[in-house]
Amino acid sequence: MGTQAGSLLKTFTGLFTRSQNRESHPAKRKPGRLPVYIITGFLGSGKTTCINQILNSTSGERFGVIVNDFGSISIDKELINGTGDQVIALENGCICCSLRNNLSEAVTTLGDSPYGPDILVIEASGVADPAGIISLLENEDLKKRVRIAGVICLMDAEEISSVSWIMSHLVKKQIRSADLLLLNKVDRVSESKKAAIRKEWIPLDMPILETVYAAIPVSLILGISHTGTSDLPSDGEHADHHHHEDHDHGFSTLSWTHNSPIRLSCLQALMKNLPSTVIRAKGIAYSSEFPMQQIIIQVVGKRVSITKGQPWIRENPSTELTFIGVGKTIQIGEITTRLESCLVKPA
Ligand SMILES: [Zn+2]
Repeated sequence: MGTQAGSLLKTFTGLFTRSQNRESHPAKRKPGRLPVYIITGFLGSGKTTCINQILNSTSGERFGVIVNDFGSISIDKELINGTGDQVIALENGCICCSLRNNLSEAVTTLGDSPYGPDILVIEASGVADPAGIISLLENEDLKKRVRIAGVICLMDAEEISSVSWIMSHLVKKQIRSADLLLLNKVDRVSESKKAAIRKEWIPLDMPILETVYAAIPVSLILGISHTGTSDLPSDGEHADHHHHEDHDHGFSTLSWTHNSPIRLSCLQALMKNLPSTVIRAKGIAYSSEFPMQQIIIQVVGKRVSITKGQPWIRENPSTELTFIGVGKTIQIGEITTRLESCLVKPA
C-alpha cells in the first residue's frame, strides 16, 4: 500500500563544492560493505547541523548523504553544505514508513556504485521511528551492500520538556535506538534542567555527550559501534501498527514557496506568532532587505532564529518554507494568507 504523496527522488551531484582535496577524477571506494550512520532526533534537534559538522571535517572520507524532509520541499538538502560528494533528498514522506522503497533504492544506488562514497549518512526526518529504517537496512538484500555502523540521536535540551505525551512516545523510541546520544543546545539550559532531562528521558547505560551546535569531533562519531536492535519492534509490527491509515505520524505539513521577495520584518513577526499547533518551521527566504543572500529561518517551538546564509547561487532565488504541525489542525489557510501579505508586490 503506497501513499498518494508522489515522492521525489532527486540526485544532486556536483552541486556542492568542498574547498580542497577534491580530485577531478573520482577514486574507487574502499572494498566491503558501505558503513551507514543514521542520524535521528525529533524535529529541530540539530540533525542537519550535525551532518554539516561531519561533512566539513577533514577526515578524508568521502561521504554520501541521504536527507529525508517530511514536507514536499527539501530544505535540509539546501542547508547541507561543504561536500562535493553525493546528496540524495527524499521528500514528501517519511523514510521509516511511506518512503521505504525510495530509501532502499537510494541505498542500493550508493552501495553499488564503485565510485560511490566511503561512508553513508542518513538523516531521518524528525518524526521517523529509527526502527523502521534499521529493519530496512538489515533486510537480506541491503545487508549484502551496507552495514549499520552507528545510530546517533540528537535531543534539543531546551525544547524536550515541551514535547507532548503522544510525541514523547516517538522521542523515546528515537533515544532507545541510539548508540550515541547528543544532548544538544545545552548552553540554553541550567545544570538542574539537564539533570532532570537525564532522569526523565535517558536510559542509564546510554552513552551521552552534551553539545552546543551539535559540535563533536567526527572521530567520535565514526568511532562508535552499533550494538544491535534486538529490543526494537520488528518491521511488520511498525508498519502495521499506527502507520496504516495515513503515513503522516499524526503530523501535517505546509510547504510554501514564492519567488517574489518577502519583507523580512513581516516574516519575522509571523514566525514569532505562529499558531500553537505549529511545532517546527524552517526554510530559506529571498528577502527584499538582503536580496543577494539566503536568509535561513529556523523555528523550534517558541524559538525563532533568522540568520544570513550563503549568497544565492541559483539564478532565480525564491522563498521556500516548510511548517510542521500536530494533527490535522495546522492552520494552512491562515499561515498562507499571512505569508502572502509579507510579499513585496511589484509597483
Ligand atoms: Zn515513518
